[in-house]
Amino acid sequence: MSADPIASEVLKLLQESREYARYLGELGVETIPHASVNQELLAPAPGSASAIDAATKLNEGIPSPAQPPLESRAEPTTPRPVVPREPTALPASLFGDLSPSPPLLAKSTETLKDIWNDIGDCTRCGLCEGRTQVVNTHGNHKARLMFVGEAPGADEDAQGKPFVGRAGQLLTKIIEAIGLKREEVLIGNVNRCRPPGNRQPTLEEAAICRPFLFREIASVQPEVIVVMGNTAVRNLLETREGITRIRGKFQDFRGIKVMPTFHPAYLLRDPSKKRETWEDLKKVRDYLDSMPPKTSAS
Ligand code: URA
Repeated sequence: MSADPIASEVLKLLQESREYARYLGELGVETIPHASVNQELLAPAPGSASAIDAATKLNEGIPSPAQPPLESRAEPTTPRPVVPREPTALPASLFGDLSPSPPLLAKSTETLKDIWNDIGDCTRCGLCEGRTQVVNTHGNHKARLMFVGEAPGADEDAQGKPFVGRAGQLLTKIIEAIGLKREEVLIGNVNRCRPPGNRQPTLEEAAICRPFLFREIASVQPEVIVVMGNTAVRNLLETREGITRIRGKFQDFRGIKVMPTFHPAYLLRDPSKKRETWEDLKKVRDYLDSMPPKTSAS
């Protein structure tokens, strides 16, 4: 029997280990701690405002945000004014397979600037009261790859750009680990105004703001969108699955490939999850490498 298959398997493993070590190095990791999944960070506590929100949403067939594992989004939710929901989705049904799929996202003719002009000094939801400024999507207007998080934190609110705080610095390293520069990608959030105390945006706040994100996606037409954390997953994908179950598997957003992965703020809390994030991002890198780059006309 030839030793070649074994030798090539060993070589492959060595190469993967080297790549992974380089990725960890990029992230500043020196040792790999034991995995310690903090499940309570990933699911709303029964009876909590988020759990009630999620249950309400479930009944309405709208993808429901779950509690994201974010840096300091732990403030108790306070009652908020009810605002109208965007017309959406089909009712949840036992016959989900028979529901028509949402239409493919056609490339729009509006530019990101048109969309931001429309957003303006937005007062469409109550988040405007506590914010310093609207934090619009930032980056390359012809990006092949887009990252979507939840909502600005304090640093983003102060600087007017998404992902510039600690989680943002980690995101930059993750982007660089797959061989890209931050300027080459597009980075945005479901919500553009900082929620008070960094709490999770409510369903209503997310529903009011996310159409602008969808318009940006239609304008740029990235080939892959990386959705980071539960809020991004549940506002882009028609799923009730939590990030832990859905991550690492390509999904579809109206014809665009979507890779769910952990939010970088969660990785700051549980660095052992960087391994999975690396696996997810490698899939994105390999997919992009396998595709011919977009032409400027497309
Ligand atoms: N977390 C997010 O979800 N978005 C940001 O812009 C910053 C932190």
